[in-house]
Amino acid sequence: MPNDPIILAGKAVAEAVKEGLRDRIANLKRQGVVPGLTVVLVGEDPASQSYVRSKERQSGQLGFNSEVIRLPAETSEADVLATVERLNSDPKVHGILVQLPLPNHIEDQLIIESINPEKDVDGFHPVSVGKLVLGLDGFVSCTPAGILEIMKYYNIETEGKHVVVVGRSNIVGKPMANLMIQKRAMGNATVTLVHTRTPDMGLHTRQADILIAAAGVPEFIGADMVKEGAVVIDVGINRVDDASLEKGYRLTGDVDFEAVLDKVSAITPVPGGVGLMTVAMLLSNTVKSAENSLK
Ligand code: NAD
Repeated sequence: MPNDPIILAGKAVAEAVKEGLRDRIANLKRQGVVPGLTVVLVGEDPASQSYVRSKERQSGQLGFNSEVIRLPAETSEADVLATVERLNSDPKVHGILVQLPLPNHIEDQLIIESINPEKDVDGFHPVSVGKLVLGLDGFVSCTPAGILEIMKYYNIETEGKHVVVVGRSNIVGKPMANLMIQKRAMGNATVTLVHTRTPDMGLHTRQADILIAAAGVPEFIGADMVKEGAVVIDVGINRVDDASLEKGYRLTGDVDFEAVLDKVSAITPVPGGVGLMTVAMLLSNTVKSAENSLK
């Protein structure tokens, strides 16, 4: 009979990350620097509003100079660029985050590339992505950085392990796969990345010592796709209709949690797993940027 699986609780890890920032923030304040994070939100997408509120609340709790610039959905691309430009040259702003997705008439990539890479705390600028791929110090995008923290906190060994990443998005799959191949602690893995054009995905996922699912498809990874004893990191946050609940939906991951539970050695729950890490890592990147501003 295998041991009970470890439930990889994002809350504990996120709290530990934030706790670790307190001394660094106090140290910055002694030198006259208050970490400054500005979030730009264009439009009224409900999920984006909720993410932004969470960023605002948590950065406030740590004593940041935090500001949210809320712009109407019809704001022109030129006006968003001008807002970023102003923040780029404001020395009190150490981190700039433009909440994605932007309305259709604004090109996400153009805005991402307009952010000063030294303030790119979301880690989406090509300079940040390039540094990540090269293994250089820079801003690692927050969700993959949060996954690394979870694995570090729970002493999950990655060296020599076969990591299978499901999904090739710029914000999760691609950076995650690249982090896992780096020649350093929390890397040194053999990585397979599967996506929508991969025939027989299960052939690969069944070989994973560590399976990282970031496809955005509710509960599509079942017990038949997971190896006995695997570590499963479920990045998916999917809304599934559920008339029995007052809000009319529930959140699920990409993994069928109940179905795989008997088989895995460790797993992140949804909610309560990776989702809680992203803001913590954003705060961490902002503190790092504030420290860099003193160098
Ligand atoms: P995305 O839609 O940009 O990318 C999904 C990727 O998965 C694509 O590359 C696609 O090729 C692949 N994919 C889709 N269906 C597949 C299938 N059936 N088989 C194999 N591959 C498939 O999504 P994303 O932004 O990377 O997000 C993925 C999931 O993670 C979503 O549920 C999202 O809500 C969640 N997410 C969570 C956090 C967090 O925890 N903070 C952050 C970002 C994304």
